[in-house]
Order: sequence, then C-alpha cells, then structure tokens
Amino acid sequence: MAEESASNISIDDSLLARLENCTNLPSPPTVAIRIIELSNDLNVDIGKVADVISMDPALSAKILRIANSPIYALRRKTENLHQAITLLGLNGTLTLALSFSLAASMNNNASQGFDYNHFWRRSLASATCSRRLGIAINLRKGEELFLAGLLQDIGMLVIDKMDPEFYQQLSINQSNHEILAAGEADSLGADHAVIGGWIMKKWGMPDYLIDSIMQSHDREAAAEDSKHQSFINCISLSGPLVDAMHEQDESDELDAVVTQIKTRLDVSDENFSSMMESLDMDFREAEDLFDTDLSDYSFSDTLLDRAKEALIIKNLETMQKADKLQETAERLESKTQVLEEKTRRDGLTGLYNRAYLDDRLEKEFTMANERGWPMVVMFVDLDHFKHVNDTYGHQAGDQVLQSTARALVDGTRDEDIVARYGGEEFIVIAPGQGDETARIIADRLVNMCRNMTHMVTGNQEIVVTASIGIAVLDDERQFMSVTEMIEAADKALYAAKEYGRNRFVVYTGQLDNEAMLVTGTSPAA
Ligand code: GH3
Ligand code: MG
Ligand code: MG
Repeated sequence: MAEESASNISIDDSLLARLENCTNLPSPPTVAIRIIELSNDLNVDIGKVADVISMDPALSAKILRIANSPIYALRRKTENLHQAITLLGLNGTLTLALSFSLAASMNNNASQGFDYNHFWRRSLASATCSRRLGIAINLRKGEELFLAGLLQDIGMLVIDKMDPEFYQQLSINQSNHEILAAGEADSLGADHAVIGGWIMKKWGMPDYLIDSIMQSHDREAAAEDSKHQSFINCISLSGPLVDAMHEQDESDELDAVVTQIKTRLDVSDENFSSMMESLDMDFREAEDLFDTDLSDYSFSDTLLDRAKEALIIKNLETMQKADKLQETAERLESKTQVLEEKTRRDGLTGLYNRAYLDDRLEKEFTMANERGWPMVVMFVDLDHFKHVNDTYGHQAGDQVLQSTARALVDGTRDEDIVARYGGEEFIVIAPGQGDETARIIADRLVNMCRNMTHMVTGNQEIVVTASIGIAVLDDERQFMSVTEMIEAADKALYAAKEYGRNRFVVYTGQLDNEAMLVTGTSPAA
C-alpha cells in the first residue's frame, strides 16, 4: 500500500510544469542531504552517523540534549555522541537529525502573504503532538512521527515559493487549516498535502514520509492496515488537535478531534488525560530545544474536562480486524528475529555466545579507537565454581550459571553487551563508557552475585560470589588490539582472585609493567 500511494501523486500537468520550473523551491541543507543519503545506505554504521552529525555542532548538541530529555528517560546520563546514538538507534538518530536540520531551514523565512511564524509554530506543535500520540498507542516510531508531523505542511512553503502572492490573493484565514487546504485545492487542483508529498518524493525521502504527508488531511480514513494506518492517523489527527488547543475554541471541533483520537487510535479516557499532561511537558521541551514560543498551545483543565465527556463511538469489528492483522505482522517479524538471534546465543544461558562476542568486541574496539570513544571490557568469573559442581552436581552448576546470566543482564543497561565467554566466565562490554561507570557497574554486579541465593535441584540454596577484572580504554589507557585489552581484563581478574575473590580490580598499568591497583569492593562480612 505504501508503494502504491507513494508513487501515485496526482498533480495535473500544468501545476506540475509550474512546480518543475520553479527555481527557488525549498531544498534540504547540506547536512540533511547527507543524512538522507545515509538513511538509504545499507552499510550505515554508528561511525558514519556520528561523522555526519558532528559536521554540525549545533546538531550534535541537540541530539545529546534530546537523549537526555524525559522522553528517553534513563538511569544513566548520556554524555557523548556514541552513547546518544546507541540509545536512539541508528535510524532514530538519523530521523531526529533530519528533523533538526530541516527545522532550522523552515524556521527562518519571510514572505508577504504567508504567515511563516504561524506555519512554523504549528508544524513544531504538530510534530510534538504526533510523537506523543504514537507513544500513547505504543507505536514505537517516535522519531519518524516527529519528522512526518513536522513536514506535513511543507507543501505550503512550496506553494509560497512558486507563487509568492498566492496566499495573499487567497485571502483566507490561515489558521483554519481545512478551509485553507480547500482553497488551495480549488485554485491549484491540489492542496499542500499532495504538493508536500511531491516535494518529499523529489528529495528522495522514504515512502512512509511521502505517504503520511499526502494523507495528512484524510481524517476519515479507515483503519485497514493497522500499523501503517495508525501512523498516518497520528499525523492527520495532530494538526486538528493542535488547532483546537490553539483556538481553545468553543465549537464542536475539539469534541470531534478528541472523539476521533479515542476511537481511531483506541486511546482510553484515562490514557487521553495522561497523554495530554505529557504533551504539555513535551511542548516545554520543544520550546527549549527549538527556541520557539509555544505558550499559546495549551490544553486547559476545562478543555480536558470537556474531552473526558466526549462521546466514544467504537466500531468493535474494525478494531478487532486491525488487531488481528497487526498480530500476524508482528509474529512474522519476530520469527525472523528469533532465527537471527539463535545463531548468536549461548544455549545454556541465552546470553550472546563466543562467536558473536568476538565479532562484536572487534567492531566496538575499532570504532572506539577511530572515534576516540571510551570503552569498557570486564571479565566476570564465578568464585570456586568447581566446588559447586563437585558438591551439588553439574545440573546445579548449570542452574547457577543461568541465574547468574540473568543477574548480569539485569545489572547492566540495554546498550551494554553481556556474553558467555566460556565455562563460568562472562564478559560485559560497555561501549562509550569510561572508568567511573565501569566501577559503578562492577560494584553493582559483585554485590548482586554476593546477595543472590540460587535455588537449585534438590531444593538447595547456594550463594556463589564473583570476581571481576576490568580493562578501560580511554585517553589514559590505550591497547594495541582487542586481544591485548582482553588480556588486561584477564590479568585484573587474576589479581581479584589473588586478593581474595568477591571483588573487582581495574587494570591500570601497561601489560609489560604489571602494576595494578586494587580498587575492588571489600568482600561482605
Ligand atoms: P576460581 O574462583 O579460581 O575461579 O575457581 P573456579 O573453581 O571457579 O575455577 P576453575 O576454572 O578451576 O573451575 C571452573 C569450573 O567450572 C570447572 C568446570 O567444571 C566448571 N564449568 C565450566 N563450564 C560449565 C558448565 O557449562 N556447567 C557447569 N555446571 N560447570 C561448568
Ligand atoms: Mg575460571
Ligand atoms: Mg571461577
């Protein structure tokens, strides 16, 4: 469906000729062009993304800020671009970066007939709103929704460039979006949604963007193909919702929008209220980030009360049908993921296996060196594990390995990599992290192991402590190869064992100079 509509932009020949002949159409800034190219690059990696983003210091700063914003609320602070990109994901980062760099060029324009200020603020408010609607329905497409929401009216810029007097001559109240679009369609044969889709295609933007912009005025579209349609619904409902917030109007418009959000996106009354509260926060965040005043977009208590009362008409049949389709799609998607994951996983613990670890270590090490990012590798080894096997049996030993693996995953963040190195030895990689975080993680893991009781076969309760050896790659400690770094972590582990186990040691010296500092937590009493 995406391909079909994206390739079918219905613009008649005379308008097309006018558009094609226009020499000053809006065009993406250089950084944005690079980002679009990277998005189409199958070999894109974190380094390439970081390179492009760091071309523009203001852009890097914004990416870091958003990674630390409540939307991506985290336990640990994001301090460098590597951490931010890992957190946001490659696509997420690229999409956000595109929003930021395009926003900058949408933000400074002047024209006689066209209200640029209103246009820009409405775009930003709709983008923020689209993302929040997506979060409310668990769409997990936050960055894409933000970008599509932001660009949904870009066709207006095109129209204004093509004919600078157009909006003046139209003499329509530009704050009524529906009437405005009807006016455009009347005199041009296409409204700004269609023209927006056209320019997106010309820029080589992805189909989802072209599609959702073209359909951004279809408020009545049925929810046939669930995920795709939900995405479009978020976009097409964001505009009317922010308009209602802006006008604080007494008309039925607000009730209509609220009812549509609740029925077409299946948002419950409760979720709607909390969504609007979060949206208020989002607006403050966007104001800061884009240096734009959105204070006249707010959802007052009276509006919220009215929204709560708004009638809910649910078409159960359609909803169920949509749910089914979504389920099938998700199942297929997860099946391929399962297959891919299987070859990377250790059979006993479910952690990454040695083959994947070796590959990943090499990649992270190369990347860290190329970019000057820090990186942590730690060896986690269970203490006197042979004794567990000898006393309680091999099966009990296996169970301890399994619960330890779970603890290691629980005690680290998603972007850290936990693998089984072999036997009762595990490796944790923390990309982008330095000495300080390494100690925090290791301290947490040593404590978790020490305080954990394993229930094993025969109703036995066992406590097994762990020792950790850490190697940190940073400005102070360099390694010639990943093997050398692993060796350093191994030496630190050996020292931890020597010093009495149940603790961690950070490798601080060069390999040829065996000096090491004991920095481990003291064993529990
Ligand atoms: P240390 O504190 O010095 O690390 O002592 P340790 O006994 O843990 O170390 P050692 O390397 O001497 O022994 C490791 C034991 O782990 C020996 C081996 O039988 C056991 N082991 C290795 N892989 C597995 C496994 O998959 N399952 C079980 N149950 N045991 C394993
Ligand atoms: Mg061992
Ligand atoms: Mg051991």
